[in-house]
Parts: sequence; C-alpha cells; structure tokens
Amino acid sequence: MELLWNLELGTWNFFLRMSSPFQQFKEQAEVLTHDLRHRDIVQTALRKYEVVRDKSRGAFQDYRTARQAAAETKWEAINHLDKYLDQLATNLEARGTKVHWATTGEQARDIIVGIIREKKARSIVKSKAMTSEEIHLNHALEHEGFEVVESDLGEFIVQLRKEAPYHIVFPAMHLTRGDIQELFNRELKSNSTDNPEELTMVARRVLRQKYIHADIGFTGANFAIAETGMVSITENEGNARLTAALPKTMITLLGIEKVLPRLEDLALFLPLLATSGTGQALTGYNTMYGGPRQPGESDGPEEWHVVLLDNRRTELLADPEQRDALHCIRCGACLNVCPIFRNVGGHTYGTTYSGPIGSVITPHLRGLQDWKHLSFSSSLCGACSETCPVKIDLAHHLLQNRRNASAQKPSFFWKTSFKMFSFIFNRPGLYKLIAPFGRLGQKLHPLVKGTKLDPAYSWTKTREAPKIAPQTFKEYWRNRK
Ligand code: SF4
Repeated sequence: MELLWNLELGTWNFFLRMSSPFQQFKEQAEVLTHDLRHRDIVQTALRKYEVVRDKSRGAFQDYRTARQAAAETKWEAINHLDKYLDQLATNLEARGTKVHWATTGEQARDIIVGIIREKKARSIVKSKAMTSEEIHLNHALEHEGFEVVESDLGEFIVQLRKEAPYHIVFPAMHLTRGDIQELFNRELKSNSTDNPEELTMVARRVLRQKYIHADIGFTGANFAIAETGMVSITENEGNARLTAALPKTMITLLGIEKVLPRLEDLALFLPLLATSGTGQALTGYNTMYGGPRQPGESDGPEEWHVVLLDNRRTELLADPEQRDALHCIRCGACLNVCPIFRNVGGHTYGTTYSGPIGSVITPHLRGLQDWKHLSFSSSLCGACSETCPVKIDLAHHLLQNRRNASAQKPSFFWKTSFKMFSFIFNRPGLYKLIAPFGRLGQKLHPLVKGTKLDPAYSWTKTREAPKIAPQTFKEYWRNRK
C-alpha cells in the first residue's frame, strides 16, 4: 500500500499500487502523453476525420435541426422504453426470432453459451459487437473452448494483438500500416508490404475461410426498430452481412437502449451516425435484419436469437438527471474531439467505452467509487457536448458524477481537507495568523520541489505551483498611501 497524491481529486489517498483502476489510468496516461509517436498517429487520424465530418455535416439541409430531431426521437424512445421494447420483442417473435432477456452481463453470457452448446457448435464468427466487449464475451467463449474470430478488420487486428478495441468506431486507430504489416507477417505468416489493399486481402483470405466453417454468426446492432421488429446494422466492409448470412445460427446482442420507435427514424439516424462516426455521408452497407430464413427464402440463418441486455441500463434510466446518457448511438464523435482522449488514448481508460461517454456511463455500469476518477479526466471544455449528434450534455454529466462521488463516499482526507479549509476561511483572525506560513512554505518549497517529499509533487513535477500574493488585500488596503 502506498500513500499517493490524488491529483484529480486534490486529496491525499491510499491506493493499492497497480490494482486500482485510478492508479492504472494515471500510470498509463503518463506514459502515453509522453509518447509522441502515439500522439502523432492519433492526431493525424483525427485531423482527417474532422475534414470529412464537416463536409458531411454540410450535406444536411439544417444540421442543427437534425440534431434536435434526433435528440427528441431518442428522448421519446428512452422515456417509453417499456412500451417500445415490448413492441420490438413481439414483432421479432412474430417472424420466428427467439428473444432472450438478460438482466446482467453474466446472464447474457450464460444465454449465449447455452445456445452455442445446444447447437454443438465449435466456431463463432463475430461482427459489430462492442456490447459483447462490455460483457467480456470472447473471454467466456474461449474459456469454454470455442473458437471466436472477429471479422471487422480493425477488431480482427486488435484480436490478433490480444488487445481490446482502442476506440468505439476505429478499434485499431493507434496502429500504423507498418504495425499491421508486421503483425500479419508474424501472426498470419503473410509476406505482404504495408500497402493497405494488400493487407486487407491478407485479412480477407483468412476471414473468408472462417465464415465458411463457422457454426454461429454473432453480431451486435446499431438500432432496433420497435415498429417492424428489425435490427439495423451499418458497416463498411460487408463482414456483418456475411456473418449473418453464412452460418446456420445467428445470435445478436443488443443493449436495450438501441431501440427506435419507427422505421422512418432511420432516415435521420443512419446519415447522422455515419457523419458523426466516420465522417461519411452514409455508411457503405446498411442492412435490416427481420428474422431467420422464412419459407421460400434462399439464404439467411435457420435460427436467430436476439439477446436484449440490461446490465444496469435500467439503473441509469431511473436517474432523471443522467437518463439521457442512454440516448447515445455510439458514434464515437465525443472521443474524437476530447483533448484528454486525444492524448491518453483509448486503452488508458481501462473500460469498454472510453472518452467522455465512457467517463459518464462507466461509473453507472461498473460502480461509482472505482471509476469516479474518469469524471476528473476531463478539461470540461464542452467540446463533447457540442459535437454529440443526439445532444447529450456530457460535460455537465461529468460534473454531476464528480458531485455524486464526493457525496457518496468522500475519503477521510477529502472530508478533513475541506473541513479545515472551511474552518480557516470562516475565521478571519485565524486566516490572518496562518497566511504568513503559506508564504513561508512557498519560500521553502524549492528545497523539496520535484522530489517525493513535495506534498504537491503530482502537480509541480509538470507545472508551476500558483504563487501566493505577497500581501493580503486587507494588508494592501491598510498600507496603501
Ligand atoms: S455521447 Fe454522443 S458523441 Fe459520444 S458516442 Fe454517444 S452519441 Fe456519439
């Protein structure tokens, strides 16, 4: 156990080194903010994104009205979630889909493993499934001895590296073409150059074989339409289509917040998601899945299971202040504009959802006390709120999380520091007595500055401590001529 200065919270705190999510975040952030290569890769990718995003925003007749309409539609969906989920499930079942409800991640894993076991399946090909990262599905499936292959190119790359996705939309954005060439040559015994087309063909050759032999196709979803009982998946590689079309059994894992009331809502949400997510006017493939293969149809899975996942989303729904965090369409735009994300990178967060939206929802999904530090990993510049296509006020929610964290379980040092602060600042006589010690302390500070004896070490190792004024206002007033 080690005594550490908790910079974000401004208190002394005890932490178990290496074991707390806060400590890991702090250590990883320090490494990556000094890694100029990493920062250059990420900043270059995001600069290109900004150019195409702005162009696609310009294609909307009125982008501001589109955002407002999207926010209102999501408000309607989330505030009548019980009604729309019922409608969705009824319509899915009407076309032969088996609907499962999972309250927790563990239940969802058990349901999915149960289906795979029942089918006596061995190999699973996956696509578009950030929600499965949330419930650590790959780990559970591999533990059961199943072969799991991610088919999205970026996810395939990070799976080969045994890493989690770096970003909700760009899972391998932290890698260069050279990194991927080296990885493919090592892991797939390919002999390719760093030409993107060549690298894609290497992955394609491997993945095509996996599709052909897969017993189960596993997907996530972008939206679920209550009115028609359909699931909408958008992608750029066609891999989700193959995942859904070739294996005999398809399983879709869906967070309950993905529901939209009407089919026509997609006319707004598909271009909005593409614009905010990748800067495209529309994503390459937009497919609606309406059920397993129907009589007379020539392709599609024989069986389709949809697992509707709660995993503490209803707890967030019960919070009137932050309920609109469930409006999120996982476009990743708030990550792209966040100065913290751009410097510390996606893996540093240690969560499935990183960046501002991750910092808002992770304390709800995984517990406030362990993840409260994420609310402090923000400059509160408001760029995330400004860019969000469904108008979630993320910066405000980060402040609310800070308030909730300190109200729920303030640390001993946090409480004592503020009690001392209040005690001194409410007693002018005492303040007058103590103020000169502050100035003396500042004079002596250079003796310990930059060493571990410095109580403000976390701050002063990279920044100057603020100067205490040479005299108080009262002294100045008294001494003025
Ligand atoms: S919070 Fe908004 S900007 Fe961030 S991922 Fe969700 S929808 Fe996109």
